[in-house]
Amino acid sequence: MINSTNLIRPLVQKLHPYIPGEQPKIKGLIKLNTNENPYPPSPKVLDAVRAAVDARLRLYPNPTAQALCERLAELHGCQTENIIIGNGSDELLTLAVRAFAEPASSVTQGKHAEATVQYFDPSYSLYPVLAEIHGALTNAVPLAKDFKLPTPAQLKKQGQWRFDAALTLVTTPNAPSGRGFPTSELEALCQHQKGVTILDEAYVDFADENALPLALKFPHVLVARTFSKAYSLCFQRIGYFVGPATLIKALHKVRDSYNVNGLAQVAALATLDDLPYYQKNFRRIIASRNQLTAELTTMGFKVLPSQANFILTKPPGPTAEKWLQTLRDSKILVRWFNKPNIKQYLRITIGNKKEVSALLKAIRSRISSPVGS
Ligand SMILES: *Cc1c(COP(=O)(O)O)cnc(C)c1O
Repeated sequence: MINSTNLIRPLVQKLHPYIPGEQPKIKGLIKLNTNENPYPPSPKVLDAVRAAVDARLRLYPNPTAQALCERLAELHGCQTENIIIGNGSDELLTLAVRAFAEPASSVTQGKHAEATVQYFDPSYSLYPVLAEIHGALTNAVPLAKDFKLPTPAQLKKQGQWRFDAALTLVTTPNAPSGRGFPTSELEALCQHQKGVTILDEAYVDFADENALPLALKFPHVLVARTFSKAYSLCFQRIGYFVGPATLIKALHKVRDSYNVNGLAQVAALATLDDLPYYQKNFRRIIASRNQLTAELTTMGFKVLPSQANFILTKPPGPTAEKWLQTLRDSKILVRWFNKPNIKQYLRITIGNKKEVSALLKAIRSRISSPVGS
């Protein structure tokens, strides 16, 4: 008898899969755990997708999402050669690991810089998963307690950071802290990095600043964007990188030939035709974020300043894990990470007005009538 387990590469047998936020189907559940946008896509986007559902589904989509590349190039003031579209920015992150980092098994000499995938901890929890799948080495460098971006001098002093890492991934604004990193500080970091440096701007539309100019200035810097969070299109899976043509060309070489599905291309193009609709929602979400921050603060929560569509907050009284359960009992789902440096926090996605009110109401009632904390 063949043992199926033995057919799997040892590296794959040992992998830890990425754990996405739950998507439970509970009626009336208020879902504030995966940073989805509380507002639907523009009606024009829904119309465009509906209108595209016809006999065309039989055909392959445009292999490079050319029309979308052209629109994005126009939007960002660059060339189409500076853009690659992916099946979500997650796919592009996978491609970046594949294109820029060596598997550790292929490097035996020296300090393995060419096999090192580096990121701050905490940041997007997918990065280590992608590095492990590839068999690359990881260098997770802890952020200070305030989650601020360290300066190159601080990183040098701390000693663990590698300025020669093949691939460095920076979530900016940071997730899960929500902290925005000033472009000037990111530029200082980029100036010191020798390997490819990806600035993952999944939440940038909720921030005061963006670092796109760095991707159009440096030969080793890429900016990652997604339609998921700000543009209410998680379901469609569409993201992109902007950066130097040479790096973009390398990424094209290692992608699937039809990596972006046709309906996603249609949806993204229609989104770019209706940006004011989304900008209005950004303003609503930012206003809710600021209101939620203020109200939680008066109730004794410590809330980190956020530049994203979520907040990271340390609740008073019971542990964050207990608060997770308390809120779940009120049919409100938030995110708690069982990790030493953030386990005292909850990450809460900014919902619509009704959801934010329900959250505040549940918290208020828990604070006024504490049951065995
Ligand atoms: C959500 C998220 C992504 C992934 O976005 P998709 O385009 O949906 O794959 C990438 N980076 C960060 C930091 C995210 O939070």
